[in-house]
Amino acid sequence: MAKVWLNGELVDQDRATVSVFDHGLLYGDGCFEGIRVYGGRIFKLGAHLRRMYASAQMLRLKPSYTLEEIDAAIRATVEANKLSEAYIRLVFTRGVGTLGLHPFRCPTPSAFVIADRIELYPPELYETGMKVIVAQRRRIPIESLNPSIKSLNYLNNILAKIEAIDADVLEAVMLNTAGYVSEGTGDNIFIVNDGHIATPPTEAGILHGITRRFVIDELAPALGYPIEERMMRVDDLLGADEVFLTGTAAEIIGVNQIDDRKIGEGGVGPVTSSLTDAFRQRVKENAPED
Ligand code: PMP
Repeated sequence: MAKVWLNGELVDQDRATVSVFDHGLLYGDGCFEGIRVYGGRIFKLGAHLRRMYASAQMLRLKPSYTLEEIDAAIRATVEANKLSEAYIRLVFTRGVGTLGLHPFRCPTPSAFVIADRIELYPPELYETGMKVIVAQRRRIPIESLNPSIKSLNYLNNILAKIEAIDADVLEAVMLNTAGYVSEGTGDNIFIVNDGHIATPPTEAGILHGITRRFVIDELAPALGYPIEERMMRVDDLLGADEVFLTGTAAEIIGVNQIDDRKIGEGGVGPVTSSLTDAFRQRVKENAPED
């Protein structure tokens, strides 16, 4: 049976439970990370752990374990489950408290690590591109709950995801309250024009995606594509040569249609294809762990 690391111990998954009084459950009070393992190497583990501790700090949640202890816990969980290709879920919850919001009446935050297989978008979509919609639901504003906090409260994204499901597509692009493009419900978004790549900046209200950062800092420069962060409107998406999404689960996937509008030639463009290939090559050969 699969093993889950829960507050310092590896336990069988059917014994891996948290209390109904945990504020992670009662209020979505906590934070999480989704991390991939490729060929036994934990892709960008350092970056994920830094983002996790930054999320916790913004929530004023003081984890019971240090970053180094969680690093070791993740490695132990992967090892215990004998997985060389995996998806890891790391979660900190506020912990058990009283039936009131007060976060500091929860004395001990919980931490757990699940290592499982990943459900990707269907493989053929990486060849054909995928359809998305622009959600009516706006991304929650930075001043209300900064999307750079990867909090356990994902209802904003879930409501947009339901719009996608209702429209029979797998992902929705969210705009911020000023009408600028922010991100997908679980991915960052990029456009390509004449070989130049652009993606919305922090100010658009986005999660600082690890895959997004990998594209900006490593893949695009290695392939010689100029890349910039800038605000964009829906029309910039619709008029782009190519549109693609990035995320830990999605990796890099082309978008071939937004609402009823075909993007570019309606398939996956050459820049997106080369980035997807380069990404796969890098993680297959020697996935960077920092
Ligand atoms: N935006 C949101 C809202 C997400 O949930 C995710 C995936 N966790 C991303 C972007 C992509 O981030 P990453 O590349 O770190 O997985």
